[in-house]
Amino acid sequence: MNRTVAFLGLGHMGGPMAANLVTAGHRVRGYDLLAPALDAAVATGVRAARSATEAVTGADVVITMLPAGRHVLGLYEEILPAARPGTLLVDCSTIDVADAREAHRRAVTAGMRALDAPVSGGVVGAEAATLTFMAGGGEAEFTEARPLLAAMGKKAVHCGGAGAGQAAKICNNMILGVSMIAVSEAFVLGESLGLSHQALYDVASTASGQCWALTVNCPVPGPVPASPANRDYRPGFAASLMAKDLGLAADAARAGGVRAELGLRAAELYAAYAEHSGATEDFSGIVHTIRNHATS
Ligand code: NAD
Repeated sequence: MNRTVAFLGLGHMGGPMAANLVTAGHRVRGYDLLAPALDAAVATGVRAARSATEAVTGADVVITMLPAGRHVLGLYEEILPAARPGTLLVDCSTIDVADAREAHRRAVTAGMRALDAPVSGGVVGAEAATLTFMAGGGEAEFTEARPLLAAMGKKAVHCGGAGAGQAAKICNNMILGVSMIAVSEAFVLGESLGLSHQALYDVASTASGQCWALTVNCPVPGPVPASPANRDYRPGFAASLMAKDLGLAADAARAGGVRAELGLRAAELYAAYAEHSGATEDFSGIVHTIRNHATS
């Protein structure tokens, strides 16, 4: 069934996601605060709205892809009075679990229905429609959103009630951040012991050290030709986004009294890295900070 979709936030991720909805035959009305982002979306078949309010008026579904929780909550204030009662609001941004639950609460209070559905797969996945969605909300809302998610990704997992999608996202990325640091430390330790990158890779990739950070996004050039290390650490998944996600995980761990020592330390290391050389690098570039420390 073709739907009328309001798509708010047409940046690196939202732009190609909205384009894939157009390709699947949906009527997409887009809005972004930045004119170049809106213009790029219009070139893919998205109809430009002059405001977020205009975009949501009469829409069946509203999808948001915004930087952080404050943007989502701020925009919901603006659009909820204009949306048709019963409209399904799907927030695909990566935001704090508490903010996601608050967004659900406000939507439901205003007579709408809500789903949090953050993604993994990055810009490449957004362009190729191969994203993985992690959804939180009611079963009926997930079922209704499913055909739209299928047009933008290859997999959608219903993780539980409000906020469960965000919870899954930050837990997954905490595993990823910690494992990337562990893999990077192992390569730098191997260097200091005279072990070649290829030898360590050949052993660990088929032994118990095997993980995505090693076999797909290997932090040293050579063993995995497609990894960002082979192109001067151009992202990929930017270190600044990893720092953001680990910050959300660290906040949640502290709030819940969870003893996540490695997750909290990973958040500190990525925050420092993203603030300096890592601002524009892939998150695997953290290997430099470990190596530089080793030789200083
Ligand atoms: P981005 O900065 O490129 O895009 C966000 C867009 O939202 C911008 O174009 C901005 O102008 C727009 N915006 C902000 N406030 C708005 C408002 N009130 N109304 C309309 N538009 C508004 O960011 P991105 O890389 O597309 O990431 C979006 C979200 O996806 C973030 O939460 C990020 O953490 C998450 N994410 C990103 C990636 C990635 O690889 N880029 C991967 C997974 C998840």
